[in-house]
Amino acid sequence: MMFDIELKSVTKTYMGADRPAINDVCLAVERGNIITLLGPSGCGKTTTLRLIAGFERAEAGKIALAGKVVSNGSTWVPPERRGVGMVFQDYALFPHLTVFDNVGFNYKEKDRKSRIMEVLELVNLIGYEKRYPHELSGGQQQRVALARALAKRPVVVLLDEPFSNLDAGLRTQMRVEVKRIIKEAGATAILVSHDQKDALAISDRIIVMKDGVIQQNGTPREIYQFPENKFVASFVGQTNLIEGTIGSDGKSIDTGFGNIPCFHTHNMQPGEKACISIRPDSLEMDQSGPIKGRIIESTYTGEAIDATVEVKLKKGKKQNLLIHVHPEIVVNKGEEINLKVLPDFVAVMSNTDESERIL
Ligand code: ATP
Repeated sequence: MMFDIELKSVTKTYMGADRPAINDVCLAVERGNIITLLGPSGCGKTTTLRLIAGFERAEAGKIALAGKVVSNGSTWVPPERRGVGMVFQDYALFPHLTVFDNVGFNYKEKDRKSRIMEVLELVNLIGYEKRYPHELSGGQQQRVALARALAKRPVVVLLDEPFSNLDAGLRTQMRVEVKRIIKEAGATAILVSHDQKDALAISDRIIVMKDGVIQQNGTPREIYQFPENKFVASFVGQTNLIEGTIGSDGKSIDTGFGNIPCFHTHNMQPGEKACISIRPDSLEMDQSGPIKGRIIESTYTGEAIDATVEVKLKKGKKQNLLIHVHPEIVVNKGEEINLKVLPDFVAVMSNTDESERIL
C-alpha cells in the first residue's frame, strides 16, 4: 500500500506552552484518499496541518510525503520543496490579480496557460479567467483557491476549514464538489474541520482528535457507528451515553433501562463496567417497548422532531434520552410513551475516562 502522507510519533510543543499542541501523533494516508482531522477548537488540527506543510517544526517524530522523509531529527525540507498544495481558511487570494493569475501564481512551467485552463475546467470556472476575487461568490473564490493549490500537480493537498466561510446550502454543495475535484485531480488530501457533517460527507477516513491526541481513526461509518470512547461518541453526532455492566451472556449490557443487546462487546467480561452510546435514531417510540418515559421537551427541526424523554430509573434516579421522531408524528410535552432500542447503532465502550481508548 502506498502512503502519500505518514506521521510517526510526531510531537509539537509551542514555546512557553505547558503541554504539547500535538502529542505522539501517528497517521498514514493512502494515495488518493481524503482524510479529515476532526475535533474541537484547540485540539491540534491546524498544528498537524502546518507541520505537514512545513510551516512549523516538530520536536520529535518523523514526517514523510510521497515516501520521502521531509522532517525528522536530521532532515528538514522547506515548505516550497514539499510538493504540497494548500487551501487556507480565508482562501488567501491576491485581490489585485485576476482568477487566471491567481491560479497561475508562481507557476512558471512552459505549459502555464494550458495548465491554468485545465484546472479552471476541473473546478468549473471557465469564463471567469478575467474576473477579480471581489467579483466572485464565496463558493467561486473557494474553487479558485482549490485550483491554485492543484495547479502545480501536488502529491498532497491540505485544506484548513475549507467550508467555514460558506452558508449552509452552499456548504452542502461544496462538500460534494470539493470531493469530486480532489478525486478527479488524483490528489491525496488532508482537511481540517470541527464540523462532523463536513467530515462524514467528504472523508475516506476521519481522525478524531482531542487535546493533541488522536482518539480514533476510522471510516466515517466506523466513527459514527462504533465510536471507541465517550468523547468520539458525543462529538460526532448526537448520542445518549448509558452506563451499565456487561451482561452474563457477554453479548449485552445490564443498565438502569434493562438489558440491552449489543453486537460487539470488545471481549469485555460479564460483570465488567461499561458504557453504551445509543444514537437518537436507534430509540423508537413503540407501545410495547420496554422503556417507559415522559416527553419533557420537543423541538421541530424540519427533518425530524428532537424529543427529550425523561426515564425514571431505580433508587429515584432519572436519565433523559434524546430521540428523533418522524416530523409527521405529533408529540406532546408531558405525554407518556414507551421506547424500544434498535440495536444497529448501539456501541459499547469501557466506562473509563472519556479519552481512554478500548481497542
Ligand atoms: P481551531 O479549530 O480553533 O483552529 P485547532 O484544533 O486547529 O483549533 P491548533 O490551532 O492546532 O488547534 O492549536 C493547538 C494548541 O496549540 C492550542 O492550545 C493553541 O492555543 C496552541 N497554539 C496554536 N498555535 C500556536 C502558536 N503559534 N503559539 C503558541 N501556541 C499555539
